Amino acid sequence: MRILLVEDEALLRRQLRAALIEAGYAVDEADNGVDAQHLGATEPYDAVVLDLGLPRLDGLTVLQRWRGAGRTMPVLILTARDSWHEKVTGIDTGADDYLAKPFHTEELLARLRALTRRAQGLASPLLQCGELTLDTRSGRVTVAGQVVALTSHEYRLLAYLMHRPGRVVSRSELTEHLYAQDFDRDSNTIEVFVARLRRKLPPQTIETVRGLGYRLTAD
Ligand code: CA
Repeated sequence: MRILLVEDEALLRRQLRAALIEAGYAVDEADNGVDAQHLGATEPYDAVVLDLGLPRLDGLTVLQRWRGAGRTMPVLILTARDSWHEKVTGIDTGADDYLAKPFHTEELLARLRALTRRAQGLASPLLQCGELTLDTRSGRVTVAGQVVALTSHEYRLLAYLMHRPGRVVSRSELTEHLYAQDFDRDSNTIEVFVARLRRKLPPQTIETVRGLGYRLTAD
């Protein structure tokens, strides 16, 4: 899944970016409100982490413009400590959740997991499809109770599909959601990863829907 990280404090942004990548997300970043607004208006993010105090354009205005333009991606805002009115205004502007600075990275990651699964109508952090399970908290994947070792790319691909069971996902959608903007994208790469992933999963788990893409099925 692909995240937009908007934070003007360079050190915090670097730390969060590293933690998000480690957690299996593709990450685009912006250090000001103007760039953030443009990226969020034009790229398909699975979630956004948005600091409210930003140079050039403040975070609330950025959020207001996205929502005004019909952008519905989950947005978690970062607010100043003890600023309850920022939280209220932020949520009323269209934020889905907030964290007050300073916060623990683990809490940010847990909230993002909740936001991205809720966006797909999923309540449990344990995703299941037949004998296949993916625990979004630990990143553990099992088939009939046996742990399956996946590379980070294979995991990202499977996690994206498992958040959308039964739905046809095109190669271009996968490319847009599994790689950051600066990544050299090639949709053939997706086919390679699907082939590798299939070898590690029960047969027919990832169905090819000719001309349309892939679908995760339980049988
Ligand atoms: Ca700031």
